[in-house]
Amino acid sequence: MGIPGAGGWTVETLHDEYAQALREDRVLYDSETDHQRLRVFENAKFGRVLTLDGVVQTTEGDEFMYHEMLAHVPILAHGAARRVLIVGGGDGGMAREVLRHESVEHCTMVEIDAGVVDFSKEYLPALSNGVFDDPRLDLVIADGAAFMAERHQPFDVIIVDSTDPIGPGEVLFTDSFYGHASRLLTPDGILVTQNGVPFMQPDELRGTMRAFKTLFPDRGCYLTHVPSYAGGPMALGWGAMSDKARKVSAEVLAERFAAARLTTRYYTPEVHRAAFALPAYVAALLE
Ligand code: SAM
Repeated sequence: MGIPGAGGWTVETLHDEYAQALREDRVLYDSETDHQRLRVFENAKFGRVLTLDGVVQTTEGDEFMYHEMLAHVPILAHGAARRVLIVGGGDGGMAREVLRHESVEHCTMVEIDAGVVDFSKEYLPALSNGVFDDPRLDLVIADGAAFMAERHQPFDVIIVDSTDPIGPGEVLFTDSFYGHASRLLTPDGILVTQNGVPFMQPDELRGTMRAFKTLFPDRGCYLTHVPSYAGGPMALGWGAMSDKARKVSAEVLAERFAAARLTTRYYTPEVHRAAFALPAYVAALLE
């Protein structure tokens, strides 16, 4: 057992007063792009780990818990999502899960850093699992906020799979960005967002929910567990143009899940519905 912070460990730099440490069994990549510092290393428990500017983005070991819940909850709740937008998601895991749905006809993925895409293909191939070759995927290298401001064609589901609101990810947590998202959703459209760990980052969720209040008739969040997003359950923001998707019954969800013929390791229709049951300390952040 090494000493976290000494050589051979990554000590995460997301919080001032709390840090998780992951042992680096083998460093595979460490480089600066124009936007951020990328590192990939191997850890006996989590497999390959991607960090951007010292913050864990995704790991081979637990990425399924995050990608399945951020992709399948809105798509199965919607029931007829044909056009999906992913903002961020450079590692390809979100696009992989979205395009497992044969019902999705087109997925646009707007990622600011081509470096994340390029090296994820090489160092984290299991995450994208060939999705970058799917003809339904349109990869756009651009700032997601700028893309949304200029976009006019609508989407049924918008998934914000961004970094935390520091650095290039900051613009993806603004009222203006959320305003464009609500403008670009179809009448039953749904926006879902990576919204951090509420026990550690309550202001992130509180801020998003404040913005959602004036933009989305149905808004809230649901929870998932991602061990490498340390500090408790993770909140996924939910902003929908109608409450239809939220009210889908367990039976209908089960039918849609069976019809999609998905093999999942975290998502189930029961977990989907239970994920919206919030502990009081999280619900308080939505008021
Ligand atoms: N699952 C991770 C999490 O929950 O923190 C996020 C994964 S993914 C690696 C985050 C992606 O967001 C990165 O590839 C980063 O380059 C991208 N990103 C950050 N700011 C962006 C922006 N303004 N527009 C588009 N992509 C952005």
